[in-house]
Amino acid sequence: MEHSNIQNISAQSDDKSNTSKDANPVCSTCGDKECSASKPRTDESHEEFKERQELQSRLCRIKHKIVVLSGKGGVGKSTVSVNLATALMMSGQRVGLLDVDIHGPSVPTMLGLEKETVTGSKEGLLPIELNNMKIMSLGFLIHNQDEAVIWRGPMKMGVIKQFLKDVVWGDLDYLIIDSPPGTGDEPLSICQLIEELDGAVIVTTPQKVAAVDVRRSITFCHQLHVPVIGVVENMSGFVCPKCGEVTQILPSGGGRLIAESMNVPFLGAIPMDPGIALACDNGQAFISQDASTPTAEIMRSIVKPIIAAGSVKKQQREHP
Ligand code: ADP
Repeated sequence: MEHSNIQNISAQSDDKSNTSKDANPVCSTCGDKECSASKPRTDESHEEFKERQELQSRLCRIKHKIVVLSGKGGVGKSTVSVNLATALMMSGQRVGLLDVDIHGPSVPTMLGLEKETVTGSKEGLLPIELNNMKIMSLGFLIHNQDEAVIWRGPMKMGVIKQFLKDVVWGDLDYLIIDSPPGTGDEPLSICQLIEELDGAVIVTTPQKVAAVDVRRSITFCHQLHVPVIGVVENMSGFVCPKCGEVTQILPSGGGRLIAESMNVPFLGAIPMDPGIALACDNGQAFISQDASTPTAEIMRSIVKPIIAAGSVKKQQREHP
């Protein structure tokens, strides 16, 4: 039912595709003839071009797209996505947060939006707005998680694809994409469908076992030519809620070691902090709710180089 739900809501979309036979077509959204939505590739059919064009003409209005990946579930990928998006929003950027994690869309819970339902307009699916941030999650459409569990691969991919191209984001500075975990077909199609990704933030936990997964995620990005913005080691030590002292429960440093050995940036280590779990359960972003804590300071230090990299890219685009 949910799959057809998406189709029904988005069926109202106008066909705004640029099918001009002009020799020098421009993208009907951004007006740029260099935009990949402006002309078909040599290896794609008319239908494939139209589909890609629909997606790309949404995304070309977004300056920076960052995907958040992890080798496996439960390491804090959604937590990092929500706090990264909130930190960017708090620094004055226009931000969208897209949760495409089919089997665990936790963004609605983490932002207290479980009761929200998505509505459609002529242009497509309207994101939920919260404190100046636009949010879209598969969780708004798939209210019964058990249903998604039995979806076959192609069905999941179809939903992800349709979902990506149907959301009306408007003009944004940043879109943070919370991907399904792993390096399988789902994150693969997300990285392939979203052209011009700024890069990936890879979240891991400190143990060696998790580090093997992060190595795989880095290789995955290299193979897809997705730049690795950096690795975040989450649940690295435990912050005592009474005295604030950090105790290393699990062996730490796995994320840093892998990042160094694979020559990608290490963005920082976030401790296990009961305040983070509490904020998530209360539907609040920790970084704004507990802004004065040392853990929030660590999160801000992780976000800083991401913002800096974004402004370098912006300058390069404006003054090539
Ligand atoms: P993933 O997206 O990788 O599946 P989540 O972000 O949903 O993981 O996190 C799983 C659970 O762990 C959530 O309940 C979240 O609140 C909690 N959590 C994540 N990071 C931390 C942390 N650093 N300290 C305490 N709890 C955390």
